[in-house]
Amino acid sequence: MVPLESLDLSGRRVFVRVDFNVPLRDGVVQDDTRIRAALPSIEAIVDAGGMPVLASHLGRPKGERVESLSLAPVAERLAELCPFEVIFVDDCIGEDVRAVIGTQRHGQILLLENLRFHPGEKANDERFAEDLTSFADRYVNDGFGVCHRAAASVDAAARRFESRHRAPGILVRRELDELGKLLTPEARPFVAVVGGAKVSDKLGVLDHLLQRVDTLIVGGAMAYTFLAANGVEVGISRVEEDLIQRARGLLDEARKSHVQVLLPVDHVVAPEFDANASATQTQGLDIGPGMMGLDIGPQSQLRFRDAIEQAGTIFWNGPMGVFEWPAFAAGTLAIAEAVASSRAFTVVGGGDSVAAINQSGWADQIDHVSTGGGASLELLEGKSLPGLVALGAKV
Ligand code: AMP
Repeated sequence: MVPLESLDLSGRRVFVRVDFNVPLRDGVVQDDTRIRAALPSIEAIVDAGGMPVLASHLGRPKGERVESLSLAPVAERLAELCPFEVIFVDDCIGEDVRAVIGTQRHGQILLLENLRFHPGEKANDERFAEDLTSFADRYVNDGFGVCHRAAASVDAAARRFESRHRAPGILVRRELDELGKLLTPEARPFVAVVGGAKVSDKLGVLDHLLQRVDTLIVGGAMAYTFLAANGVEVGISRVEEDLIQRARGLLDEARKSHVQVLLPVDHVVAPEFDANASATQTQGLDIGPGMMGLDIGPQSQLRFRDAIEQAGTIFWNGPMGVFEWPAFAAGTLAIAEAVASSRAFTVVGGGDSVAAINQSGWADQIDHVSTGGGASLELLEGKSLPGLVALGAKV
């Protein structure tokens, strides 16, 4: 892959795939981290004389126009954040779009409408990729969060350009550099903290992490499948029954490889999955009948914090509980604080842990906050990402 700086951009129209899949509420951007993350590439392209035409998906409109998933509010936010004039184009392919692109002047940024309003995007359709990028002289992929998806704008579009005319953006480069450090960590112990909803989503990365880490901390709903595998009473907590055996295998594997696995030793529980359910703490490991674990308890926080304090390298993905609900957020916020206060090299990846770290106010203490949840996990699993392969990455 050639670096962005080596593309000749002067006077060129540059198709830039960004990841502006941001949370929206009532047409207002709730978290602009991903928009900010694209600014360095946008500025570098303009500084080098290029004219960026940005494209992104937002949500899951399933190949049709859905007004509530328009990128128009994102264009407004982008205009507030960047020093250039931002023009929103209300589709991403077609004559009218090309006509607007034809009027673009240097110093103006165009943002195209949601790519997923067309079925060709998800289908990785070559024809759609051609319609989308036929105006462009250069191609840049700065949407790290979509690099693991073989969508038209990520894969087919990139392959239309000669290798000297396409490049990863600054954000993608930085993600690869920083996440790459976790594959061969310099400072030990390497502690991975994994949480979130499902073991099934994270089996691949757990397998891979086990070969690299010294300590694996498991929290969130995932922990109950592991606790069940150890024969602990977990009440009506979320357990993936079909994965208990696999979880047991992972624990055996960890023992053989001398990897320490830390599971919660106490819990915040409730009788139902509800924001206002009455929350109580267990006295120990077991969760009584009719109760479900929705956060780690204070003893677990201490135990996890101790391991985090000793770490030389830390990777954190996934919340320790249902942190969206204040009664079950303490465990996740305690981990956020512990990771942020650590002197280790720290990487936080995954949408929910990033939201939690932002919510905690500690984000600027983290060495690298990854913008791509799925993409960062697949990279750590050792998988090759279609968006990088399309750019010519050696795999
Ligand atoms: P993930 O996307 O896999 O990282 O999962 C994040 C989701 O897991 C968040 O929406 C949390 O509310 C949820 N979660 C974390 N802990 C629990 C738990 N103990 N029970 C149910 N859901 C949980």
